[in-house]
Amino acid sequence: MSPRRPRWLYWRFWVQFASTVLANNGLVNATKGLCWPTLNCWACPTAAFGCPMGALQNSMSAWRWRLASGGVLEAILGLPWYILGGFLIVGALFGRMVCGWICPFGWFQELIGSLSRRKIRLPRWLGYPRYAVLVGLALVVAFLTGEPWFCKLCPQGFLEGGLPQPLLRPELRSGIGWLWYTKLAIFLTFVLAALFIRRPFCALACPLGAIYSLMHRYSLWRTVFLRERCTNCLWCVRNCPQGIDPREDLDGHLCIGCLECQKCPFDAIVSLPAWRVTGCSTACSHHDRKNRTGEADAGY
Ligand code: SF4
Ligand code: SF4
Repeated sequence: MSPRRPRWLYWRFWVQFASTVLANNGLVNATKGLCWPTLNCWACPTAAFGCPMGALQNSMSAWRWRLASGGVLEAILGLPWYILGGFLIVGALFGRMVCGWICPFGWFQELIGSLSRRKIRLPRWLGYPRYAVLVGLALVVAFLTGEPWFCKLCPQGFLEGGLPQPLLRPELRSGIGWLWYTKLAIFLTFVLAALFIRRPFCALACPLGAIYSLMHRYSLWRTVFLRERCTNCLWCVRNCPQGIDPREDLDGHLCIGCLECQKCPFDAIVSLPAWRVTGCSTACSHHDRKNRTGEADAGY
């Protein structure tokens, strides 16, 4: 296992920029039926890819119809396998690294957050409402109503679609009503919150981040804390964009996989493919967890 910091760790800002431009290049329409791995509003005038959460909700209403009209086999075959398979592949490979590295709305919140230095550290339990948004709003409500209600309220959707569309197309302005103003209020709330909370939408409300969080700890790309190298200088605690203490909760559910903590001056945090974790010290975070939970050694 190599302890050296790879250079690409310092490219995150530019990867986020490139990903935002690529997902919204305004030139390629042929790929719009494909999903980008992160939130990316399909209604954006320049969107080159669709949003997996929008696709998931729309497929829930189609699935409801198949469920009502067919049998069990019909219902199983009618599940949105393309979207579920996409979540599984991306999550199993990278976990939440897609949030930290290529999500346009995550990057937008980081840019807003950079305007203010004071940040509130959120308690860990506040990361759980995201699962309620996922199950309640994006799955159950979409299934029952046949409407993508998460999209209707999504602040990323407002930034990319709800705001520019009426600006560019005056004929749409007459349709502005209470829903548009509700979405505006949600968007402004998260923009204001981003000044005081690190990536508040990602930490509190994003259902897609919740899906990837479930797989982050078990993804092929792992981050490991090597306690024996740590001098407790707290550099990583001060610099984690999510306000996490990486010594305690490195791959916990609030972690966005940005790997900022891997810039640790003492190389006490490394990331590497799961199959290369075999040679790590027994003082690493994965062994710590196994010792606490009695989990069987999976060959690290
Ligand atoms: S920056 Fe490195 S050495 Fe300092 S507390 Fe974090 S892990 Fe330990
Ligand atoms: S713990 Fe490390 S990888 Fe996770 S959010 Fe903090 S700095 Fe990024």
